Amino acid sequence: MSSANEVRVGIDVGGSAIKAGRIGADGAIQAEQNWEAPHFERGPSHVLDGIAELARGLHVERALGIGVPGLLDRARGFLIESPNLPSFKALDVKGELAKRLGLEPARVHVENDANAAAVGEQWLGGARGERDALVLTLGTGIGGGLILDGKLFAGEGMAGEVGHVVIDPGGRDCGCGRKGCVEQYASATAARRRALEAGLPREAPGDLKLLAERARTGGAQERALLFAIGRDLGRGLGPVLCLLDIRCFVFGGGFSAALDVLEPGIRAGIEERSYGDRQHHVRLQRATLGPKAGWIGAAKLAFG
Ligand SMILES: [Zn+2]
Repeated sequence: MSSANEVRVGIDVGGSAIKAGRIGADGAIQAEQNWEAPHFERGPSHVLDGIAELARGLHVERALGIGVPGLLDRARGFLIESPNLPSFKALDVKGELAKRLGLEPARVHVENDANAAAVGEQWLGGARGERDALVLTLGTGIGGGLILDGKLFAGEGMAGEVGHVVIDPGGRDCGCGRKGCVEQYASATAARRRALEAGLPREAPGDLKLLAERARTGGAQERALLFAIGRDLGRGLGPVLCLLDIRCFVFGGGFSAALDVLEPGIRAGIEERSYGDRQHHVRLQRATLGPKAGWIGAAKLAFG
């Protein structure tokens, strides 16, 4: 166990910014630093140098956690590939950072970014105190991290990837190479596309904030569209409920601000794709850590 005064540094590599911070074992944030608009196109070395500089600026001592987007060899801390960062392939994140920071490789904890965010939300955020929860991020795609029995469950590395549950075989093409994945219908990007196609909200088609506001204040078309999007999301969650009987779903990412107006649809989709009375016992909650969830979770993992 870590003693109460120990601290860890966490890093979260996102597509538009790299976020980092230092946090105590008691959950008190001591410092934060962001690297806005990193030049990923300059290649992995440049980015790893910058990350090491961030960590040094936060006085990294014994251990470091880092969340990265993409497919990982978690045991070795290797990034196999990252769909959003094509030049980051077969990258020894653990070894390269350990070398730059003078740490033992075992002290560098590398995790998938959605998993790291789930750990953060379970430690200090919207899934706090939950034994079992699926933490979803509604953003460009739909990311997911699974907490089972109080701990991150990663399977062989890709557990919780609920965004690629197929809800419409033969439907829209997905970046994963399949068709009809739920993230093609219910991510923030998909919702914006659907709103634009429907010309909603009328004043500014594609504006999700306004779309939700109109739905709340009686816009029948807006409400119907958000119901349909929510139902598609729920159709993706039904199989999760069937398999794991999880009662707590926590939603983060920009589009989660619309959770109140998505909820009736989500429940209808769950009802349609699972069975029993469980739908009535499912809790749909908002994530609360916002963009800090990833680095906080990565730091938590570094406490061991
Ligand atoms: Zn997919």
